[in-house]
Amino acid sequence: MATPALDNGRPRPYLRAMEITFEHSFAAQVPLGVLEQTPDPAPAPALVVLNAGLAAQLGLPLEALHQHGAAWFSGAAWPASAVPRAMAYAGHQFGGFSPVLGDGRAHLLGEIVTPQGRFDLHLKGSGRTAFSRGGDGRAHLAPMLREYLISESMAALGIPTTRALAVTTTGRDVLRDGGLRKGAVLARIAASHIRVGTFEYFAARGDTASLRALLAHTLARHYPKAPPTAFGLLDAVIAAQSRLIAQWMGVGFVHGVMNTDNMALSGETIDYGPCAFLEAYDEDAVFSSIDHAGRYAYAMQPRILAWNISRLAQALLPLIDGDTAQAVDDANARLDGIAGIYRENWRAVFGRKLGLDAPSPADDALIEEFLTLIQGADFTSSFRALQEAKTNENRLANLLPQGRTPALQAWLNLWRKRTGKADLNAVNPAVIPRNHMVQAALDAAETGDMAPFHALAAQVQNPFGPETEREAYCLPAPPDFGPYKTFCGT
Ligand code: AMP
Ligand code: MG
Repeated sequence: MATPALDNGRPRPYLRAMEITFEHSFAAQVPLGVLEQTPDPAPAPALVVLNAGLAAQLGLPLEALHQHGAAWFSGAAWPASAVPRAMAYAGHQFGGFSPVLGDGRAHLLGEIVTPQGRFDLHLKGSGRTAFSRGGDGRAHLAPMLREYLISESMAALGIPTTRALAVTTTGRDVLRDGGLRKGAVLARIAASHIRVGTFEYFAARGDTASLRALLAHTLARHYPKAPPTAFGLLDAVIAAQSRLIAQWMGVGFVHGVMNTDNMALSGETIDYGPCAFLEAYDEDAVFSSIDHAGRYAYAMQPRILAWNISRLAQALLPLIDGDTAQAVDDANARLDGIAGIYRENWRAVFGRKLGLDAPSPADDALIEEFLTLIQGADFTSSFRALQEAKTNENRLANLLPQGRTPALQAWLNLWRKRTGKADLNAVNPAVIPRNHMVQAALDAAETGDMAPFHALAAQVQNPFGPETEREAYCLPAPPDFGPYKTFCGT
């Protein structure tokens, strides 16, 4: 049953000052891409965390958010201009294709137009939809807080990402892992929720008209300067996603579930499920409990980027006019180009981390040798030690496994000639959301103690500041923490 909009019936001037105004350009332009669906009623909605900084950046009415946020962000009620909808999408999950996935536990309330641009406001964990299949449509507190922490960390690290606006509890328990957990909803802000899987959905149905409408909408929304063609979009997404994945690699981020339904056309990181940051540098690192084959391991991410973009290219083929064989050749030429485009982005990211001015292919060996040197050492701390290593290498040397000092000296001799004056502490973070700190914050939150969460959130929002007085946030997990496993967060 539909829950009435919270502000319905109030006098208009009051309403205007107190509400969020939504637009619905996606639903208007791609009508078959959405279904109107009602979020579950929440018996006792409560705001657990509100991202006041983000709300202010977006020009949202803070007073109204404090007053109505529990209801709005749990799906208990919504502003008059919101229209809750589930979005349709398909997706390749671990390589296998599902023609219909869609928002099985999420509702798009609509788009807000802000000084920073147009954003979706979307609820995750807000109840069953027509796309839920066997799922309960719900989420529980720890994974929603986890997405909040990690996405806010990514934003502070300067990496394109969806943002967390709020986490609420619904007052309804959710059955997970054989126990009852607090039901929760994440309110998420995204440039859009258009995924590679959104294109695959219409391609799989042979609905070329919707595919064309989706292409036009995506180009206008994200790449207004690109040529208004399928190849215009493909090239723009290759550029945006290559840059994004290179940035992930630069902070040791492992997304964990790079299915095509979790790759956004906007170039933002989306769907924080089993993701984690590397501690010890290991190219084969996998955290997800279900990624047995290591398909989404750290160093596989650039290859999966190319694989996912190929799926996008395939979905776009019906929109490429004329000779199909020629279209396939043209698409393949672009796909062949991804490795080189990624490589340039990788060089730019790692060149910056090493303080190299205008890095060129001749610098690749210097970057790669550093990565070889820090194998098994803490990834974040090793890069962070570089600023000091311009003049004193003791800290860096102490981080490396035994026996690497001669190799380090040889590398330093080359690097010190090549590195510039840039402050490397401004590019190599001191603080990332360390797995053990995240886990401790979530464990405390589940018992009702939000203090560790807020403390960690404040630290990850200031990743480049000095280590002083926050050393505990800069250190790797103690050995007794053991190997870290993550879950898909359902
Ligand atoms: P994800 O692994 O979160 O990217 O989700 C993959 C698909 O499973 C999407 O279609 C989700 O909407 C759906 N899904 C995940 N969790 C649930 C749930 N608890 N109930 C219903 N659908 C879900
Ligand atoms: Mg997903």
